Amino acid sequence: MNQPQRFAPAKVDFDLTAIRADFPILREPVRGGRLVYLDNAATTQKPETVLHALDGYYRHQNANVHRAVHDLAERATTAYESARDRIAAFLKATREEIVFTRGTTEAINLVAYSFLQPRLQPGDEILLTGMEHHSNIVPWQLVAARSGARVVPAPITDRGELDVDAWRALLSARTKLVAVVHVSNTLGTINPIAELIREAHARGIPVLVDGAQAIAHVPVDVKALDVDFYACSAHKAYGPTGFGALYAKRAHLEAMQPWHGGGDMIRTVAFEGSTWNDVPYKFEAGTPDMSGAIGFAAALDYIDSIGLDAIAAHEHRLLEEGTQRLSTIEGLRIVGTAPGKGAILSFVMDCAHPQDIGTILDQDGVAVRTGHHCTMPLMQRFGIPATVRASLAVYNGSDDLEQLERSLAKVRRLFA
Ligand code: PMP
Repeated sequence: MNQPQRFAPAKVDFDLTAIRADFPILREPVRGGRLVYLDNAATTQKPETVLHALDGYYRHQNANVHRAVHDLAERATTAYESARDRIAAFLKATREEIVFTRGTTEAINLVAYSFLQPRLQPGDEILLTGMEHHSNIVPWQLVAARSGARVVPAPITDRGELDVDAWRALLSARTKLVAVVHVSNTLGTINPIAELIREAHARGIPVLVDGAQAIAHVPVDVKALDVDFYACSAHKAYGPTGFGALYAKRAHLEAMQPWHGGGDMIRTVAFEGSTWNDVPYKFEAGTPDMSGAIGFAAALDYIDSIGLDAIAAHEHRLLEEGTQRLSTIEGLRIVGTAPGKGAILSFVMDCAHPQDIGTILDQDGVAVRTGHHCTMPLMQRFGIPATVRASLAVYNGSDDLEQLERSLAKVRRLFA
């Protein structure tokens, strides 16, 4: 069954051994053997440089930011605000346009409540796609329900692509926002966001892109895209959990009212009324996650030290290899076959439920995700309750895919 010679060797300038050595957790034994970590769309592992940045922050810099004159507070503020510069540079934004959040979910909620809700009238529509993560559905439903507006999903093809013609036909004078995932966490589909943004803007409709699965895999240039809002999470890009960012055009941020109130987001407070800080601080109430910002910046440094192009090429090669390997397993069907998709392999098998497959794989140290992947409408579209999802990252290699194939062959033997 295993024919590794079928596959081209990794590019010589991509040193997988060295990259793996950067991730201490990959040396952690699981189930008495080697960890085969294929759950990267859920969260990625963290390189030594990120761990060092997090540890170093608490050892050498920790103090509350923006508020005190003492040395440590200055160090913390400088490190925290430098992280904003770093994240802005990565997305090709300016620092005033980067709002720190707890992640993609909070970034989308911020736009839903602060930008969209005040603009919604009964009968208005928010145009989504059928492949959105719950984080890019539920916030819109919540604000729609308060305003008598409604959420409209554009259909998905059998290959797991957005039906762009159908999407276009759903744009109308009622559409107040388009929200679309950049890279689908379930299918790997990469949406043509530049085209979608152009089309929406031609009708005066602002666009939010959910970039949770994109920033560690494809280059993002928010200025070239002319996107209104771009949301991302650090933990999907080798950074810490519970931290992320919202890019928003400055004019939008200036026009938006604050969402959360508290310290740091104010200029003056009086019982008669308060005034707001400059953007982006107007949207950052309370003591922020300083270490999160610093860890995120270190993660982006790590990505750039390898190069997104090299990462994407490596992952693409693995995706092709993985697709071929899975196609040798009888009764296995890949869900999501869009051309040029990202390195995500979702599949079902006719002999076993995804939950059982995941349990058998885990016995061999293979970590995959099973379930609906927070995309229940997409599962409904494909008429399945769940899939098994193997999602790849920079430290995966042919040996991981070989083990996946071996363990799936075992599933077949056990259940067929
Ligand atoms: N959108 C997509 C496409 C995702 O994959 C995820 C995380 N699974 C999210 C949004 C939410 O990200 P977070 O939980 O970090 O807020």
